[in-house]
Amino acid sequence: MAADHKITVALDYANLTDAKSLVSKLNPEYCNLKVGKELFTATGPALIEYLHSKNFKVFLDLKFHDIPSTVKKACEAASYLGVWMINVHASGGSMMLEAALEGVNKAKQSPLLIAVTVLTSMEQKTLEEIGVSRNLEDQVLRLAKLTEKSGLNGVVCSAKDLSFLKNHFNSLFLFVTPGIRMTDDVANDQRRTMTPYEAIKAGSSHLVIGRPITQSENPSKTLEKIYLEINQS
Ligand code: C5P
Repeated sequence: MAADHKITVALDYANLTDAKSLVSKLNPEYCNLKVGKELFTATGPALIEYLHSKNFKVFLDLKFHDIPSTVKKACEAASYLGVWMINVHASGGSMMLEAALEGVNKAKQSPLLIAVTVLTSMEQKTLEEIGVSRNLEDQVLRLAKLTEKSGLNGVVCSAKDLSFLKNHFNSLFLFVTPGIRMTDDVANDQRRTMTPYEAIKAGSSHLVIGRPITQSENPSKTLEKIYLEINQS
C-alpha cells in the first residue's frame, strides 16, 4: 500500500472559535481540512487564510450547482483563495462541469476539482421524486463517467460504491470518501460505513472523517492512530 495517505478532517463547526480550538489539536503532517457551507458562510475567507497560516491544505466543500457562467466565476473565486480542492454537483451537466474547470484553470495554482454524483442522503425513492427512474448505482456511475469525460479530477462517493465504480476509471481519477467509521465508533447519521483501512484497500484516494475525530476525547491521538493504520505497509 502506498504510504502517506493523509486524512481529510471535516471541520463541521458553526463558528471560528470552535473550529480553531479543534485545529489547534491537529497535526498538518497527518491531515488536510474540509471546510463546508456552514463554517464558510459564518467565517468567510479569513478562516481559509488562518488554516493556510497553520500549514493545512483546505478542501473547500461548497458543492457549486448553478448556471455554467456562475459556477465558472465561483470556482475561479474559490481558486484564488489558494485552496487544495473544491467541488461541484455533477448533475449540473457537462457544460457546467467544463465551465467549472475553466474557472479553476484561471488561477495560478489550480485546486483539484471534484464532483458529487448522487448525495449519499438520497435513496431510490428520492431519485424517483425528481424524475430519475434509473437504478441508483447506475446513476452514480453515469455521473462519475460524465465527471471524468468533462476533465475533472474525481468524485466524492461512499467507500461502499468503490466496488462497482473503481474499475471503470483510470488510476489517476480520485475517489474522495466520507462515511468512515472505526469498528467501535457510533455511526451517527451515516448508513453505509467502512473502516479507514478497508476504504483505502478498496481504492479510496482521500478519506473524509468528521465526528470520529472531532468528537473524540483526544482528537490528536485518534488522528494519529488512523493515520498510522492507513499508512501501515
Ligand atoms: O462526521 P462525519 O465523519 O460523518 O462527517 C463526514 C463529512 O463528510 C461531513 O462534513 C459530511 O457533510 C460530508 N459528506 C458526507 N457524505 C457525502 C458528502 C459529504 O458525509 N456524500
